[in-house]
Amino acid sequence: MAYRINADDCIGCGACEDVCPVDCISEVDDSKRLIDENACIECGACADVCPVDCIDN
Ligand code: SF4
Ligand code: SF4
Repeated sequence: MAYRINADDCIGCGACEDVCPVDCISEVDDSKRLIDENACIECGACADVCPVDCIDN
């Protein structure tokens, strides 16, 4: 199951986007980020760097 960002808690820092090895995280409304679940390889890098721990799988 792909990782998902809880948009309610995301502060739009961009840390997850910077570390994603397959570049499947993009900026959406209000700088919040969205994961392309079809491209995610479930490496967990984004969840490791999120300062507000709002990425789950
Ligand atoms: S789990 Fe890995 S591949 Fe999936 S969105 Fe996060 S950093 Fe990208
Ligand atoms: S690292 Fe967390 S808070 Fe920062 S943009 Fe990604 S999901 Fe949002």
